[in-house]
Amino acid sequence: MSFVWTVAEQHEGRLKAVSFELLSRGRALADKLDTKLASLVIGAGVGQPGLRELIQRGADEVYHVADARLAHFVCETWSNILADLVRHYRPVVVLAAATSLGRTLMPHLAVKVHAGLTADCTELDIEPGSDNLLQTRPAIGGNIMATIKTPDHRPQMATVRPRSSVVLPRDPERLGRIIEVPVAEQLFESRVVVHGCRADVEDFVNLEEAEVVVAGGKGLKKGDNFALLRELAAELGAMVGASRDAVDRGWIGYPHQIGLSGKTISPRLYIAAGISGSIQHLAGIKTAETIVSINKDPDAPLHNVADFGIVGDLFDVVPELTRRLRRSKAVAS
Ligand SMILES: Cc1cc2nc3c(=O)[nH]c(=O)nc-3n(C[C@H](O)[C@H](O)[C@H](O)COP(=O)(O)OP(=O)(O)OC[C@H]3O[C@@H](n4cnc5c(N)ncnc54)[C@H](O)[C@@H]3O)c2cc1C
Repeated sequence: MSFVWTVAEQHEGRLKAVSFELLSRGRALADKLDTKLASLVIGAGVGQPGLRELIQRGADEVYHVADARLAHFVCETWSNILADLVRHYRPVVVLAAATSLGRTLMPHLAVKVHAGLTADCTELDIEPGSDNLLQTRPAIGGNIMATIKTPDHRPQMATVRPRSSVVLPRDPERLGRIIEVPVAEQLFESRVVVHGCRADVEDFVNLEEAEVVVAGGKGLKKGDNFALLRELAAELGAMVGASRDAVDRGWIGYPHQIGLSGKTISPRLYIAAGISGSIQHLAGIKTAETIVSINKDPDAPLHNVADFGIVGDLFDVVPELTRRLRRSKAVAS
């Protein structure tokens, strides 16, 4: 039996939005291949309502690998378990999200099951007349879209950009099977011993799900000046993002990077200050609803795609915006 699989992600028992995004990709592929779609949930704490939601949003089956020892992501153990399942059930396609977890786990799995892997796909399709997965992703600095297929190996594996697909609406009538999968003891054998887990604030920058994002680039001149953006972000209830130049200079951590080699975001409001708008940066904000560009250069490319372009010095404009927001909140209260 051929299957399309998606690897769900969760944090402390709550399924992440990418788990549902992957299902809409997987559903389209499974329908074209006339096969079933299964979602894999590894870890502890996802209850029956969460597992049922996967079915309601497109899965035919859910494989639930629950064990308290899987509460934290340990790549070696997780890839042992996945490889064992892949060898047993022989899926034809395995999809994971191009998140830190997916990008770490899938290469390990690919090596263990001798499969190919295409990272960070933005489009997926099935080649007519075969079961080959067409895996499309930006290449050569985002200037071309490359389509890759792996006709000689199964499963075909890809990671998919978060936020590059819509979540299917929930259908409470949809039925499917939830299968509790026992884990063989030897699969837990690992050279990694987890003594505890520290919540690294930087790693939990969930920009992909933010409603409002305020981002800064090289125009900020130095890392300390991100404080200006953090103040504005605090007034707007926003998260702080950055261009690659700002990240490469060490002004802010990589989890904040937006763009081709960073995160793809879809906020309702995106405010960029001192960011020119390179093609690679724009690749990460295509689906933002409203874009505001603050740049002293009237010809900055970001102004061309922005809904509102403010031509001015960010060191004047950003504090002024923060002041006005504070004032209007004070008046309203
Ligand atoms: C393979 C590859 C992948 C890449 N991936 C990414 C990615 O994921 N994300 C990304 O962002 N980039 C990425 N890049 C880099 C990208 O090409 C650009 O170099 C980068 O986006 C530029 O960052 P920036 O806009 O901060 O800097 P700049 O292009 O130098 O722009 C700075 C802007 O600040 C403005 N400015 C200066 N001072 C002020 C002021 N006082 N007030 C207002 N405006 C001011 C300037 O007018 C200018 O427009 C990638 C490049 C490659 C080759």
